[in-house]
Amino acid sequence: MIYVIGIGPGAKETMTLEAVRALEEAEVIVGYKTYIHLIEDFITGKEVLKNGMRQEVDRCKMAVEYARAGKKVAVVSSGDSGIYGMAGLVLELAAKEEMDIPVKVVPGITASIAGASLLGAPLMHDFCHISLSDLLTPWEVIEKRLKLAAEADFVICLYNPRSKGRSGHLEKAFQIMSEFKEPDTPVGIVKDVGRPEEKKVILKYKDMDYESVDMTTVVIIGNKSTFTHKEMMITPRGYLL
Ligand code: SAH
Repeated sequence: MIYVIGIGPGAKETMTLEAVRALEEAEVIVGYKTYIHLIEDFITGKEVLKNGMRQEVDRCKMAVEYARAGKKVAVVSSGDSGIYGMAGLVLELAAKEEMDIPVKVVPGITASIAGASLLGAPLMHDFCHISLSDLLTPWEVIEKRLKLAAEADFVICLYNPRSKGRSGHLEKAFQIMSEFKEPDTPVGIVKDVGRPEEKKVILKYKDMDYESVDMTTVVIIGNKSTFTHKEMMITPRGYLL
C-alpha cells in the first residue's frame, strides 16, 4: 500500500486526522527533508527515507520499491499532495509500470487555502492557481495562463512565485497581468504559513513588493470586486447586504 499524504502547510493543527492516521499506519516514510522535519512527532521509530529538492522521481521510485517488498509506505507532500505535489507522480509511475499496489491519496490543506484564511476571505469567488516555476512548464505557457486568467478576472493564487534562480518571474508576471488588473487591486502576500516565521501583508497591485516574496510564499491577487477592510482582504460572493 502507498499512501500519498498532504500534511498541510506546516502546523500540526492543520493536518487532517486522516493524514495523521495514515502516517501512523505506515511503516516507511518517504519525503523531502523539510517536510519530514514538520511531521517528526508522528513518525518516531519508523523507517524514514528523505532526500532533497528536485529528487521527486527518485523518491517516488523508492516508495514503489518498498511497497513492492510488502511495506506500507507513506509519501508525504506539503499542503495537498495533489496540488504541485507527489500524488500525480506516484499515480503516473503506477500507471506506467502497471503496478498492482493500491495507492491512496490523502488530501491536505493547500498553502493558498491556509493563506487565504489569514488574509480574510479573498477566495469567495472563482479563483485559479498558477505556478511561476518553469522547471517543468514552458514559460510561454505560464505567460498565456497569466494573461487569460487576468482577463477572465479570476482571483489568482501564484505558487512558486520567486526563487533565486528566477527572481524576475514575479515582476514579469505582474507586468503581464497589469493589462487587466487595476492598480488598486488588493494583493495578499502570505509567507511561511503555519510555520514559526508566518507573515502576511496586504498591499495594492501598483505597490507590489517583489523583494518580500520567496519560495515559501503564496501571492493572492484579487478580482475587480476584491476590497480590504481592517487588514482583511474580501472578495464579495455577490450577496446583497
Ligand atoms: N503541495 C503544496 C504546493 C507545493 S508547490 C501545497 O499544496 O501547498 C510549492 C509552493 O507552494 C511554494 O513555492 C509556495 O508558493 C507554496 N507553499 C507551500 N508551503 C507554503 C507555506 N507554508 N506558506 C506559503 N506558501 C507555501
